[in-house]
Amino acid sequence: MSRHNTDFNILAATKFTTNGNGSKPAPMDIESIFGENAFGLDEMKSRLSVEVYETLLATIDRGEPIDPTIGDDVAQAMKEWAIERGATHFTHWFQPLTGSTAEKHDSFITPNKGGGAMARFSGKDLIQGEPDASSFPSGGLRATFEARGYTVWDPTSPAFIVENPKGSYLAIPTAFASWGGEALDAKTPLLRSMEVINKQALRVLKLFGTEGVAKVTSTVGVEQEYFLIDEQYYYRRPDLMTCGRTLVGAKPPRGQELDDHYFGSIPDRVLSCMLETEKELYRLGIPVKTRHNEVAPSQYEIAPIFENTNIACDHQQLTMITLQRIARKFGLVCLLHEKPFKGINGSGKHNNWSIATDTGMNLLEPGDNPHDNLQFLFFCAAVIKSVYRHQDLLRVSVASAANDHRLGANEAPPAIISIFLGDQLEDVFNQIEKGSATESKQGGSMSHGTPVLPNLPRHAGDRNRTSPFAFTGNKFEFRAVGSSQSVSFSNTVLNTIVAESLDEMATSLEASLASGASLEESAGDVIRAAVHESKAIIFGGDNYSEEWHAEAERRGLLNLKTTLDALDTMVSEKNITLFEKYNVLSEAELRSREEIWVEQYFLTINIEAETTESLARTMVMPAASSYLSSLVQTIEQGNSVGVSTTGVKEVADHIAAYIDELQVALSELIDNNKDLGGESVHDKALHMLNSVIPSMNKVRHATDRLERITSADLWPLPTYRDMLFVK
Ligand code: ADP
Ligand code: MG
Repeated sequence: MSRHNTDFNILAATKFTTNGNGSKPAPMDIESIFGENAFGLDEMKSRLSVEVYETLLATIDRGEPIDPTIGDDVAQAMKEWAIERGATHFTHWFQPLTGSTAEKHDSFITPNKGGGAMARFSGKDLIQGEPDASSFPSGGLRATFEARGYTVWDPTSPAFIVENPKGSYLAIPTAFASWGGEALDAKTPLLRSMEVINKQALRVLKLFGTEGVAKVTSTVGVEQEYFLIDEQYYYRRPDLMTCGRTLVGAKPPRGQELDDHYFGSIPDRVLSCMLETEKELYRLGIPVKTRHNEVAPSQYEIAPIFENTNIACDHQQLTMITLQRIARKFGLVCLLHEKPFKGINGSGKHNNWSIATDTGMNLLEPGDNPHDNLQFLFFCAAVIKSVYRHQDLLRVSVASAANDHRLGANEAPPAIISIFLGDQLEDVFNQIEKGSATESKQGGSMSHGTPVLPNLPRHAGDRNRTSPFAFTGNKFEFRAVGSSQSVSFSNTVLNTIVAESLDEMATSLEASLASGASLEESAGDVIRAAVHESKAIIFGGDNYSEEWHAEAERRGLLNLKTTLDALDTMVSEKNITLFEKYNVLSEAELRSREEIWVEQYFLTINIEAETTESLARTMVMPAASSYLSSLVQTIEQGNSVGVSTTGVKEVADHIAAYIDELQVALSELIDNNKDLGGESVHDKALHMLNSVIPSMNKVRHATDRLERITSADLWPLPTYRDMLFVK
């Protein structure tokens, strides 16, 4: 087989037209299609009785416990709506601890006595499902004999329709728990953490005298990066198909050096794919807003308008699924892996997080009146305090074998967690910490005659792209998240740790107020103490620099370089206490997650190692040896007829040397693959980190050298140039 371009059908790319018949493109009527495939509030209102709708709304809006007696009515309405949209089946859609989503379909069809069938869907079908839990990771939470697991309807996240040309089905967002009630999924702890932040934020608002707020939720908007490559190349790369990233592959002569891709114009085929993806997302009620080219060739980004965190997390999963599904319609494959191509920027996501009231107030909005500022500074200080105290948990929430390729690689934040506040806000907190803030740096001269009330213009400072956790005007942006990761756990952590800080700060505030101090004075003291405790986490400089690593160490900040370093810190006394205190995760649930993530790390590297081995043995070695063989023949022939073979001989020597290097590396890798390094998953994972990854790197080194000098006609794998530049 040959990889030569004549052998590929690049017509899909070169001859792509957006409208074959020359007619005008059909306009997209966003207003009419938005949410047509989601069972949202409007749809519920029009199909349910006032009483049932109000009861449901009490749960959705105010977090009141769901009243099970409305199940049948809601199920009936949902079924009718779904059938009108062509659905024949329903599924409880859940998020097991694999990081992705799971579904098992049931038909609405129930036979009737007359030999026919009718569509049935009861409240019980809606509220509870019983998938076999034994095939999902449980990290020891579930003994093998207890196979039972339950999915439970999450009424706060809208059900939706998944379409296929041959039929559609209704997907119902659910939580997933074991027979014993332990959370086996990502949603349950997230929902618990939503409750915790609601409670503590309400308490603070009450102390500040902010009236009329019944509910506080955290809000999230996630910017998602991804690659699109032509699918014919994908199918010829066993590494991409099996592992989602290239395990070998030489850097192309031209990569992203010219910096001409970022925000560049979008090629037609890609734009069509984006438009169709966005249309599907709109129909699902997902408010996507921005799209652009990213830094690397063939890399793009999509971002929605923020939503309630629980819904945003579901929508984030659906966005990833939709990106991948729609790409196929255009002969493209969407790569969500954190580092598909070595030497080319990888992909991440930016998890924008804030807290909002049901009255429409963003609690991290600096605002422009003094009262808002004091309250804002209080919430902001709580975030700073929580990030300082729980650097380890934030780092854990973004830990994965794939993300290890990015963090600290000068394209993504380092593995050290720090906060960027911007010049002005940093200065304000400095002043507060020293005593009182009487002015704000750029705004000039403003003093409100109270200790902590500087006026804060919205864009108080420049941006800092290198920071893992940056204040960006009225929200914090957590930028260390990997592109393929679920954002549920990061947000579970954020909600919980900020709630803890709010809890402690509210308690101090209450005590100070009780002793007769004024709100300004008391809040000033509490904010000062919080900042004093946690100021080491604030850093406005270049996070990519060597100096920062040294400085961070001096400050005593954690630098958890690999996934295993991070996971080592996960089950500590501090973290068990935190999650148990707020009923977000029991100790057993926390331990199970650590166990599962260590195992996933091990499995990921193990699969990559086996794929590297097979690629090297069955594709690279044969290609390189055939080339060597043809060179050797040329030399023999040249010598026999007296033609100079010096140059050919030199090439042959090179090839032979790299083949030798490859064979040594390959033997080492094969040995390391056989020996898993021990019995426990922890031992196996360490073996992957310390022995298997280095051997894989050696195989790659020799392979990439061979790719550069082996005849292109013989090289069996699509190259980086093929994959990144055919659009
Ligand atoms: P930038 O990163 O350039 O500031 P945007 O202002 O568009 O870009 O925001 C990026 C993401 O942050 C978007 O998904 C947006 O919806 C989200 N975002 C904006 N405000 C909030 C908020 N209050 N809470 C959560 N996410 C938010
Ligand atoms: Mg951003």
